[in-house]
Amino acid sequence: MARLSPAPGTRIPFLLGLFVFFVVNTAVAGEPQRFQFAQGHMGALFRIVLYAPDETLAKKASDAAFARIAQLDGIMSDYKPDSELMLLCQRAGGDPVPVSADLFEVLNQSLVAARRSNGAFDITVGPLVRLWRLTRHNRELPPPTVLARAKELVGYDNVVLDEKDHTVRLLKPGMQLDLGGIGKGFANDKAMAVLKEQGITSALVVAGGEMTASAPPPGREGWTIGIAPLDNPDKAPSLYLLLRDGAISTSGDAEQFVEINGTRYSHILDPKTGLGLTGHSSVTVVAPNGTTSDWLATAVSVMGPEQGLKMVESSLGVAALILQATKDGDKVYESQRWKDVPKTGPKTEKAEPKATGAH
Ligand code: ADP
Ligand code: MG
Repeated sequence: MARLSPAPGTRIPFLLGLFVFFVVNTAVAGEPQRFQFAQGHMGALFRIVLYAPDETLAKKASDAAFARIAQLDGIMSDYKPDSELMLLCQRAGGDPVPVSADLFEVLNQSLVAARRSNGAFDITVGPLVRLWRLTRHNRELPPPTVLARAKELVGYDNVVLDEKDHTVRLLKPGMQLDLGGIGKGFANDKAMAVLKEQGITSALVVAGGEMTASAPPPGREGWTIGIAPLDNPDKAPSLYLLLRDGAISTSGDAEQFVEINGTRYSHILDPKTGLGLTGHSSVTVVAPNGTTSDWLATAVSVMGPEQGLKMVESSLGVAALILQATKDGDKVYESQRWKDVPKTGPKTEKAEPKATGAH
């Protein structure tokens, strides 16, 4: 999401993608070849790894997929003042606003997420996200009155979608929507759909800590994904799993946080307190698609292991791994389906550079 976009000319500071890196294999002779492309969008580095019979098709397909991601950035960005999302927010408190099919779909998914997570995931946190950015800049928590005013604007019940007219109405003036917790996963899924239209059936689309995969590389069981340990995301992964026809997302505070008076505040916010989460943890979710894994990883981070895993268990085809730092060392929580996610070792595969945020 463009929420991570730095001011023009500055470097991208952090990305959760550092949590996860992946390993892919070189093609066997006679098989389709492996190609890799990267472009910066939504304040993140998007990478596409795909198998294609020749470079012309690989390039054409990835160009089309990146164009789709750029289009979605123009719709969902909260940094671009003229994005469709920001224009919608400008009309908060007014009449219903007709929106594009893409914006309607991602807003609809976001409201499903909010209801399912009991408001732990809530895209109306925009005013709180803005305060968090100020906090990071000033290294000072917002005064209670300022925080209380921002919290008054939060609440997903104030987003009203009309399926028939394809309109969105934001009930309170000053509301700000933020798709930072779902937009990259959504964009990955849409990019994958474009690759399929272009005839590419084996691909991996990566944006920071979000990945969507189609069929595995030729002759393989899945895309090998490494999950970095909690204490140091730069260390070699402690675990490798195989992903195919699905998605994986990791959320946490390892990269994006601000420290004030010895407390770390994550960029994942608890809508109840209005502040960033303070525990040190990472949540990895495997789901049928990237939109789902993205919001679920953020939501489970807010809900914590007990409530979060309950939601995961009741989500079709979803598995989760939670690593939580405690004073007695790291605690590991696994959802029931986590044991069914195929695991592997890194042994024979070629390590890719990590999915970092550098453009
Ligand atoms: P990342 O995009 O860095 O991988 P996440 O997917 O967890 O991380 O999304 C975090 C982003 O989601 C924040 O930067 C913010 O824009 C937004 N966000 C923060 N807290 C919430 C929340 N409780 N519900 C919905 N979105 C949130
Ligand atoms: Mg997310």
